Amino acid sequence: MAVDVERRSVAPIIPPVKPRKLAKVPFVELADGRLQGVVSSGSDVERVYVSSIGAGSHGLSCSTNNNRPCGGLRGSYPCKHLQALLDEAVLQYGADRVARYLRIDVEEGRSLTAGLRAHHEPSPAATVFSSFLRHLAYLELPDTTSPVPELHWFPSVGAAR
Ligand SMILES: [Zn+2]
Repeated sequence: MAVDVERRSVAPIIPPVKPRKLAKVPFVELADGRLQGVVSSGSDVERVYVSSIGAGSHGLSCSTNNNRPCGGLRGSYPCKHLQALLDEAVLQYGADRVARYLRIDVEEGRSLTAGLRAHHEPSPAATVFSSFLRHLAYLELPDTTSPVPELHWFPSVGAAR
Protein backbone atom coordinates (compact mmCIF):
# COMPACT_ATOMS: atom_id res chain seq x y z
CA MET A 1 0.00 0.00 0.00
CA ALA A 2 2.85 2.37 0.86
CA VAL A 3 4.29 1.76 -2.57
CA ASP A 4 1.05 2.84 -4.20
CA VAL A 5 0.90 6.12 -2.28
CA GLU A 6 4.52 6.84 -3.11
CA ARG A 7 4.01 6.28 -6.80
CA ARG A 8 1.00 8.54 -6.86
CA SER A 9 2.78 11.35 -5.05
CA VAL A 10 5.41 11.56 -7.79
CA ALA A 11 2.94 12.77 -10.42
CA PRO A 12 -0.31 13.91 -8.89
CA ILE A 13 -3.01 14.15 -11.51
CA ILE A 14 -6.18 16.13 -10.99
CA PRO A 15 -9.10 15.47 -13.33
CA PRO A 16 -10.32 18.55 -15.20
CA VAL A 17 -13.67 20.01 -14.25
CA LYS A 18 -14.71 20.68 -17.82
CA PRO A 19 -13.92 18.86 -21.07
CA ARG A 20 -11.14 20.32 -23.14
CA LYS A 21 -11.79 22.11 -26.38
CA LEU A 22 -9.22 22.62 -29.08
CA ALA A 23 -8.54 26.31 -29.18
CA LYS A 24 -5.95 28.86 -28.22
CA VAL A 25 -4.73 26.48 -25.53
CA PRO A 26 -5.29 22.98 -26.98
CA PHE A 27 -3.59 21.16 -24.12
CA VAL A 28 -3.27 21.92 -20.43
CA GLU A 29 -2.65 19.72 -17.41
CA LEU A 30 -1.57 19.76 -13.80
CA ALA A 31 1.01 16.98 -13.76
CA ASP A 32 4.66 16.19 -13.00
CA GLY A 33 4.74 18.99 -10.46
CA ARG A 34 3.93 21.59 -13.08
CA LEU A 35 1.12 23.37 -14.77
CA GLN A 36 2.06 22.65 -18.34
CA GLY A 37 0.51 22.86 -21.74
CA VAL A 38 0.59 23.89 -25.36
CA VAL A 39 -0.43 27.35 -26.52
CA SER A 40 -1.07 28.37 -30.13
CA SER A 41 1.00 31.21 -31.50
CA GLY A 42 -1.05 34.32 -32.05
CA SER A 43 0.71 35.16 -35.31
CA ASP A 44 1.82 31.88 -36.89
CA VAL A 45 -0.58 28.94 -37.31
CA GLU A 46 2.37 26.56 -37.81
CA ARG A 47 3.87 27.35 -34.46
CA VAL A 48 2.92 26.39 -30.92
CA TYR A 49 4.51 27.23 -27.62
CA VAL A 50 5.13 24.76 -24.84
CA SER A 51 4.72 26.59 -21.56
CA SER A 52 4.99 25.51 -17.96
CA ILE A 53 4.95 26.86 -14.42
CA GLY A 54 6.59 24.82 -11.66
CA ALA A 55 4.51 24.01 -8.58
CA GLY A 56 6.08 25.65 -5.54
CA SER A 57 9.16 26.89 -7.40
CA HIS A 58 7.08 28.99 -9.82
CA GLY A 59 9.80 28.49 -12.41
CA LEU A 60 8.57 29.74 -15.76
CA SER A 61 9.36 28.03 -19.02
CA CYS A 62 8.19 28.85 -22.52
CA SER A 63 9.62 27.74 -25.85
CA THR A 64 8.40 26.69 -29.26
CA ASN A 65 7.82 23.07 -30.22
CA ASN A 66 11.26 23.31 -31.89
CA ASN A 67 12.82 24.24 -28.56
CA ARG A 68 13.43 27.87 -29.45
CA PRO A 69 13.10 30.09 -26.40
CA CYS A 70 10.07 32.34 -26.33
CA GLY A 71 11.02 35.95 -27.02
CA GLY A 72 8.27 37.23 -24.76
CA LEU A 73 9.55 35.54 -21.61
CA ARG A 74 12.09 37.82 -20.03
CA GLY A 75 13.07 37.68 -16.40
CA SER A 76 10.23 37.00 -14.03
CA TYR A 77 7.19 38.29 -15.88
CA PRO A 78 5.02 35.60 -17.55
CA CYS A 79 4.75 35.96 -21.34
CA LYS A 80 1.32 35.98 -23.04
CA HIS A 81 1.51 32.22 -23.57
CA LEU A 82 1.96 31.56 -19.88
CA GLN A 83 -0.87 33.97 -19.16
CA ALA A 84 -3.10 32.11 -21.62
CA LEU A 85 -2.07 28.78 -20.09
CA LEU A 86 -2.93 30.01 -16.61
CA ASP A 87 -6.27 31.40 -17.80
CA GLU A 88 -7.17 28.11 -19.45
CA ALA A 89 -6.13 26.14 -16.37
CA VAL A 90 -8.39 28.32 -14.24
CA LEU A 91 -11.27 27.64 -16.67
CA GLN A 92 -10.73 23.89 -16.56
CA TYR A 93 -9.72 23.30 -12.96
CA GLY A 94 -10.95 26.38 -11.12
CA ALA A 95 -8.72 29.07 -9.61
CA ASP A 96 -8.58 27.40 -6.17
CA ARG A 97 -7.24 24.12 -7.45
CA VAL A 98 -4.69 25.79 -9.71
CA ALA A 99 -3.51 28.02 -6.85
CA ARG A 100 -3.29 25.01 -4.50
CA TYR A 101 -1.42 22.89 -7.01
CA LEU A 102 1.11 25.60 -7.87
CA ARG A 103 1.19 26.77 -4.23
CA ILE A 104 0.34 30.35 -5.09
CA ASP A 105 -0.74 32.63 -2.28
CA VAL A 106 -3.58 34.58 -3.80
CA GLU A 107 -4.55 37.77 -2.07
CA GLU A 108 -8.19 38.71 -2.04
CA GLY A 109 -9.16 40.32 -5.34
CA ARG A 110 -5.76 39.71 -6.97
CA SER A 111 -5.01 37.48 -9.95
CA LEU A 112 -3.03 34.26 -9.74
CA THR A 113 -0.30 35.93 -11.77
CA ALA A 114 0.14 38.55 -9.05
CA GLY A 115 0.80 35.77 -6.52
CA LEU A 116 3.54 34.07 -8.55
CA ARG A 117 7.07 34.30 -7.20
CA ALA A 118 8.15 33.77 -10.76
CA HIS A 119 11.56 33.33 -12.29
CA HIS A 120 12.82 31.90 -15.56
CA GLU A 121 13.51 28.18 -15.31
CA PRO A 122 13.76 26.37 -18.66
CA SER A 123 12.26 22.90 -18.69
CA PRO A 124 12.31 20.30 -21.44
CA ALA A 125 9.65 21.26 -23.96
CA ALA A 126 10.06 17.98 -25.83
CA THR A 127 8.55 15.96 -22.98
CA VAL A 128 5.43 18.08 -22.77
CA PHE A 129 5.10 18.30 -26.51
CA SER A 130 5.31 14.55 -27.06
CA SER A 131 2.59 14.12 -24.45
CA PHE A 132 0.49 16.58 -26.40
CA LEU A 133 1.01 14.63 -29.62
CA ARG A 134 -0.05 11.43 -27.86
CA HIS A 135 -3.10 13.28 -26.61
CA LEU A 136 -3.95 14.29 -30.20
CA ALA A 137 -3.38 10.75 -31.45
CA TYR A 138 -5.84 9.36 -28.91
CA LEU A 139 -8.49 11.81 -30.00
CA GLU A 140 -8.47 9.88 -33.29
CA LEU A 141 -8.88 6.49 -31.65
CA PRO A 142 -12.17 4.77 -32.41
CA ASP A 143 -14.46 4.27 -29.44
CA THR A 144 -13.36 1.36 -27.36
CA THR A 145 -14.50 -0.13 -24.11
CA SER A 146 -11.22 -1.87 -23.31
CA PRO A 147 -8.66 0.09 -21.33
CA VAL A 148 -5.71 1.59 -23.20
CA PRO A 149 -2.77 1.38 -20.77
CA GLU A 150 -1.02 4.58 -21.88
CA LEU A 151 -4.21 6.57 -21.30
CA HIS A 152 -3.78 6.55 -17.52
CA TRP A 153 -1.61 9.58 -18.29
CA PHE A 154 -4.59 11.62 -19.40
CA PRO A 155 -6.75 12.75 -16.53
CA SER A 156 -9.90 13.34 -18.55
CA VAL A 157 -10.00 9.74 -19.76
CA GLY A 158 -10.04 8.37 -16.25
CA ALA A 159 -12.86 10.72 -15.38
CA ALA A 160 -14.93 9.69 -18.41
CA ARG A 161 -14.69 5.96 -17.80
ZN1 LIG B 1 5.83 32.53 -24.38
